[in-house]
Amino acid sequence: MIDEKFLATQVISIHTWSDTLFSFTVTRPDSFRFTAGQFARIGILVDGELIVRAYSVVSSPYDEYLEFFSIVVPDGAFTSRLQHLQLGDTLYIEKVPYGFLTLARYQQPAPQDLWLLATGTGVAPFISMLQDFKTWEDYQHIILVYSVRTAQELAYQDKIAEIKALFADEPAKLTFIPIVTREVVQGALNQRLPQLIASGELERVAELKFDVTRSHVMLCGNPQMVEDTKESLKAIGLTMNRRGEGNIAVENYW
Ligand code: FAD
Repeated sequence: MIDEKFLATQVISIHTWSDTLFSFTVTRPDSFRFTAGQFARIGILVDGELIVRAYSVVSSPYDEYLEFFSIVVPDGAFTSRLQHLQLGDTLYIEKVPYGFLTLARYQQPAPQDLWLLATGTGVAPFISMLQDFKTWEDYQHIILVYSVRTAQELAYQDKIAEIKALFADEPAKLTFIPIVTREVVQGALNQRLPQLIASGELERVAELKFDVTRSHVMLCGNPQMVEDTKESLKAIGLTMNRRGEGNIAVENYW
């Protein structure tokens, strides 16, 4: 029997990016409301047991469906099953969303410059935020930095271009900076985020400085990246966001 905290949803689309990355959409229960940046707890039924994992929502709070972006971990209890999803399959989603990687957490400094720094599937909550009109109304500059190992892992390129075009008339300007660490790819940087921050290269390419009085910086994905990047930001004077105040907010995926 399924725990009453969960609602059944049906898979309505699947998109494969690479051997280890795919996205899928499910029907959205009417009662499931979330803020861009939050995550859902998704369950898959295996031999009568629900295996549950956290997944950031990629789609916007206004979409009729819910979209997720997933890694495939070889032998991972959840993803080794999830990768065999078929259209029409049932997944279970916990009734309430979770998480504090949302723009509402910032009170001081007031919104001006938004830096969204992701590795791998950690780009998911940022795609959701970028589809929320409020993000574009509140900020002057938005910098999306998306770091992966190989060019093939750079998912959502068309979506990012589409979002940029869709919100072109908004006051905020989006600068997208891809990073590919294990290949040299034209148009992408190829060092790790902490190095790019320490050397000033990221600011040079973004044409914007990190500033304790202006910057909101969100980090999401690989915990080692989050830790090292956080330290490099603190070394140039930024502070952790606590009780609404400060620059840096983080979410670790494992
Ligand atoms: P697990 O036993 O959970 O993980 C095994 C190992 O796989 C981990 O120790 C780690 O080394 C690696 N790993 C786990 N997740 C990832 C990942 N995302 N990318 C690279 N390596 C990973 N995963 C997503 O794919 N998309 C999301 O949007 C997402 N959102 C999350 C939000 C939160 C708040 C948290 C805490 C986790 C999120 N995760 C996300 C991770 C996800 O919950 C699972 O860990 C992942 O689905 C793997 O599950 P598993 O049972 O197959 O392997």
